Amino acid sequence: MGAPPPTPERVGVFGGTFDPFHNGHLASALAVVDALRLDRLLVMVANEPWQKEGVRTLTPAEDRYAMVEAGTSGHPRLVPCRLEIERGGPSYTVDTLAELRRLGPPSDLYLVVGADVVGDLATWKDEPRLRGMAVLAIVARPGAERVGIPPGWQAVEVPAVPLDISGTDLRRRLEAGEPVEGLVPPAVVRCIRHRGLYATGR
Ligand code: ATP
Ligand code: MG
Repeated sequence: MGAPPPTPERVGVFGGTFDPFHNGHLASALAVVDALRLDRLLVMVANEPWQKEGVRTLTPAEDRYAMVEAGTSGHPRLVPCRLEIERGGPSYTVDTLAELRRLGPPSDLYLVVGADVVGDLATWKDEPRLRGMAVLAIVARPGAERVGIPPGWQAVEVPAVPLDISGTDLRRRLEAGEPVEGLVPPAVVRCIRHRGLYATGR
């Protein structure tokens, strides 16, 4: 008799622009790890978020990655991931999940999204294929309607303390020289100042 097959790891993928990484991201990530008993949650920094292309100027991916590293430090189950940056070009989740399946050991994948994103899923590349690759984990977000489970997906709703924080509001605050303490992990504030991001160095 051989050894029993290893239990697949429970791995979450939390994708985003993270421009900047903030306490809403951190609280959601920790709530998902806890509720779904994940072994790891990959915080996946989009290289080129195709939904945001041409809409505004993005902070360079390496700076966004540095903010994610700073903001997740001290939380061993939150793992910053460079896969989309290394792949280059536009970041499509279906390619990312396929790559994770190809490269890693077998795992149960959870795709983590805030409620504001759920309504857009139908527009994502190869959405019918994507549906079969991961269970969706939906985190409530202030300002986003309660959406329910999108058609064709297997999904769970994860309770989290709702934090009314967004990258859009933070970029405005930073550019206006307003404080962001309490909205962003302290290590991310230091990273922003150190790198002079969002015109804070001017
Ligand atoms: P922007 O305003 O630039 O869109 P954002 O705050 O929405 O920034 P994103 O990088 O777009 O940040 O979001 C990445 C993921 O994090 C998305 O799934 C989004 O729904 C989720 N998210 C962002 N902020 C929150 C929040 N406050 N609570 C719950 N989920 C959030
Ligand atoms: Mg967003």
